[in-house]
Amino acid sequence: MARIEPPKRVRGTQDIFGEEQRRFAHVLATFERVRALYGFQRVDLPVFEDTQVFARSIGETTDVVSKEMYSFPDRGGDPLTLRPEFTAGIARAYLSEGWQRFVPLKVTTSGAVFRYERPQKGRYRQFHQIDAEILGAAEPQADVELLVMADQLLHELGIADGVTLQLNTLGDAETRDAWRAALVAHFEAHRGELSEDSLVRLDKNPLRILDSKDPRDRPIADAAPDIDAYLTVEARGFFDAVTAGLDAAGVAWTRNARLVRGLDYYRHTAFEFVTDRLGAQGTVLAGGRYDGLIGSLGGPETAGVGWAAGMERLAMLIAAPAEPRLDAVIALEHDDALIDGQRLLAGLRRAGLSAEMIASGSPRKRFDKASKLPADVLIAINRQDGQTVFNTRAADAAETLARIKAVIDKVQAAS
Ligand code: ATP
Ligand code: MG
Repeated sequence: MARIEPPKRVRGTQDIFGEEQRRFAHVLATFERVRALYGFQRVDLPVFEDTQVFARSIGETTDVVSKEMYSFPDRGGDPLTLRPEFTAGIARAYLSEGWQRFVPLKVTTSGAVFRYERPQKGRYRQFHQIDAEILGAAEPQADVELLVMADQLLHELGIADGVTLQLNTLGDAETRDAWRAALVAHFEAHRGELSEDSLVRLDKNPLRILDSKDPRDRPIADAAPDIDAYLTVEARGFFDAVTAGLDAAGVAWTRNARLVRGLDYYRHTAFEFVTDRLGAQGTVLAGGRYDGLIGSLGGPETAGVGWAAGMERLAMLIAAPAEPRLDAVIALEHDDALIDGQRLLAGLRRAGLSAEMIASGSPRKRFDKASKLPADVLIAINRQDGQTVFNTRAADAAETLARIKAVIDKVQAAS
C-alpha cells in the first residue's frame, strides 16, 4: 500500500502553542484591560465579507486589494474575501446595523486576518491583529484618545522603551489635492528613475510612492516636497491640536513627513509605532483618520479614526510570560486510593484551586514526577492499615495550603 504523506501546515500560517500561546494570551488580556479603561466596547465581526467591502473601502490600487486578498466565489457563486484588516468590516457593520445611533462609537476587536504575502519573520499569511476605532468623532481629541491608548498599551506590555511614535498629517481634501499636484510634478521629473510599481502608482495614487520600499524609489521619494507648505489653516490647526493633546498626556512622538498610509481613505492624522528590534518588519501598530471611508461605501459622510497592531509582532517583543503554576499536584502513590484521589482532585478544582493528579505509570515513580511539576503544594496519597492517608508539602503557600486542607478534610470525612 502506498504510504500517505502526512499533511503539512499551509505556508504562512502558524500553530500557536506553549510559550507562544502564553505570549499571545498576555497581549490580548492586556489589550482587553486597557480598552475597558478607555471605554471601548468589543465587537466581533465575520471573518469574510463581500469582496466589494474591501475593494471599495481599501482601494483597488493598494497592495492589499491588488495583490494580497484571499478572494473566492463560495458554492453559491457569491464573491467573498477573507478579511485582510478590520476597519472595512467595522465600517460595513456600522452601516448594516445602524450604529449611527451610538456615535461617537468606540469599538475594539481582535482576531485572524489574511494577506497573501511572502512569509518571513513577523510576516504571515494568516496573522492576528488587535484593532481600535472611533466612528462619528470628527474632533482631534478622538485621534489623541486612540494614540494615548496605544501608548499605554505598549507601556503595559513593557515594550514602550524601544518603540517610537511617528506622526504625520495627510491634511484635508484641499491640502491633499494641492500636495498631490506638487508630488506628481516632482515624480514626473524623475519618471525615468522610478521602479515599475511606482510608475503605476504615479498614474493611480502618487502619494504611495513616498511609502515605497524599492531602493530605486527611495532617493526620489526622500527628495519629494513635504506636505507642510500645502496645509490649509484648518488642516494645520487639526494637526496642532493632535500634537498638543499628545504633549498634554505625556506621549512622546516624532514627526515623519514621509509617512503615508497604504490605504486610500486616510485624512489628517497618520501614525506608526516603530521599533528597530524586528528587522524589516518594524511597524508594530499603525493607523490614522479615515473620514472618507464610510462615504466611499455609500453611507453618509462619517468621521473615523483607528489603529491596528500585529499581535505576532507585539508577542515577539514582550518578555516571556511566566509558565502557569498549579495550586496543587497530587501524587497517587497507591492504586487502591484512586477513588479518594479522584474525589480530592474534583473537590480542589470545584473550590477554585488549580490541580493535576499523577496517577499513571509505576506508583513508585509518581511522587518524583509530581514534584517536578510547578505547583505550590504537593499532595501524596497513600494507603496505610486500610486507610487513605494524605501528606502535604508546601513552600510559602500557607493560604493555599489551608484551603487544600479543608478539601482534604471533606474527602476524609466522606471516605
Ligand atoms: P507592512 O508595511 O509591514 O506590510 P502594513 O502597512 O501592510 O504593514 P497595516 O495594514 O497597517 O500594515 O496593518 C497593521 C499592522 O498589522 C502592522 O503594523 C503590522 O504590525 C501587522 N501586519 C501587517 N501585515 C502583517 C503580516 N503579513 N504578518 C504579520 N503582521 C502583519
Ligand atoms: Mg503590508
